[in-house]
Amino acid sequence: METIVIKFGGSSLSTTDKIKTVAKRILDVKKQGNQVVVVVSAMGKTTDQLLNLAGQLTEHPAKREMDMLLSTGEQVSISLLTMALTEMGEEAISFTGWQAGIITESVHSKARIVDIKVEKMKKHLSTGKIIVVAGFQGVTEDGEITTLGRGGSDTTAVAIAAALEAKRCLICTDVTGVFTSDPRYVSDARKLPSISYGEMLELANLGAGVLHPRAVEFAKNYQVDLEVRSSTENEEGTVIEEEASMESNLVVRGVAFEKGITRLTVFGLKNEWNGLSAIFSALAQNQIDVDIIIQSQTDAKMNLSFSIKSKDLEDAVQVLEHQKEVIGFESIEYEANLAKVSIVGSGMVSNPGVAAQMFTALANDEIQVKMVSTSEIKISVVVGEEKMQKAAQILHGEFKLNEVTQTIN
Ligand code: ADP
Ligand code: ASP
Ligand code: MG
Repeated sequence: METIVIKFGGSSLSTTDKIKTVAKRILDVKKQGNQVVVVVSAMGKTTDQLLNLAGQLTEHPAKREMDMLLSTGEQVSISLLTMALTEMGEEAISFTGWQAGIITESVHSKARIVDIKVEKMKKHLSTGKIIVVAGFQGVTEDGEITTLGRGGSDTTAVAIAAALEAKRCLICTDVTGVFTSDPRYVSDARKLPSISYGEMLELANLGAGVLHPRAVEFAKNYQVDLEVRSSTENEEGTVIEEEASMESNLVVRGVAFEKGITRLTVFGLKNEWNGLSAIFSALAQNQIDVDIIIQSQTDAKMNLSFSIKSKDLEDAVQVLEHQKEVIGFESIEYEANLAKVSIVGSGMVSNPGVAAQMFTALANDEIQVKMVSTSEIKISVVVGEEKMQKAAQILHGEFKLNEVTQTIN
């Protein structure tokens, strides 16, 4: 018998009526003769509400206690969904992350899964039970509850699918698949029939919240057959696979974007061999991720601009000011309220005109580009947050992503 892993996100579980609808979907998959593992997120906006509760008590909650708090959200969903399944006459059992054998590294708030002890799940599957697992959480070797980062239930599902060598992992959500851009922001975004692991990973890392980046990493590393589809509509979704088979002539596959970016500029850094190393080591030691870096140099001094997440701004400024003398710079300035807009597509590798086309389209609409970064299959620009949606719409139109085929100028 084949195993199917199905994951349902919070918006698909926000009411008990929706939980019943989800339970019916699960029964359909079971009736097709499959063993079924279900992974669920917390109901509706529960995780945000829990974060808000903590925020009413402290500005700096201990990460261990946050994990303890946030992991409760998924526990509510597993028990309710299991009750709904039982009520429909099915045998089902709920497991928290640790009961399901999900072992993570010892890092709170964004732990990686390092192992899944599948014996218990296998034993229950073999008796015909549906297993309902709490997404987004695991346990360290020494028994501490951890969470996997926002959106991490996707990763739970794909990791379980890999560990059980499941036939397919279905990510069921409130959109019908992966679109050329977020359909909530880009009106004519189009559902893609398939997308490669590499392109999906870039899109996810660049802000396309439809899949957690680590879920895509897992799927790629373990060749998990992954599909994103609707939790309510019975239509084909998007298959994520090694080589996207259709529309292979596309140069750009999608547009992703992300708010909450700040550009920090360090002026008058001594032009010595260890200047860059000192700055970025100090930031890294404090878990501050740096994204785009631009360096400009005169003989004696250099200026350095780099982008970070706005939530890290206070920490970054504090860390750098604290080590001002040691690092040896004159001053820091920053610009907040920025956004990153990116185009992604494996066809870019062999098309040198793509960047020019992108910048020209943005310039024609007077969208000022503040930073740029490129890789083989993506180009990102940083723009004012208020221009983000417009920039995404322009680029989506420019690369004709609403059409099935496209060419570049
Ligand atoms: P869930 O609660 O099911 O995990 P999420 O909110 O995490 O759902 O992810 C689904 C959302 O992802 C969609 O509602 C959509 O707004 C957003 N999204 C962002 N980029 C894309 C994209 N390229 N294709 C589809 N959805 C996208
Ligand atoms: N409940 C968690 C969140 O809201 C995990 C998830 O939904 O995947 O981020
Ligand atoms: Mg999600």
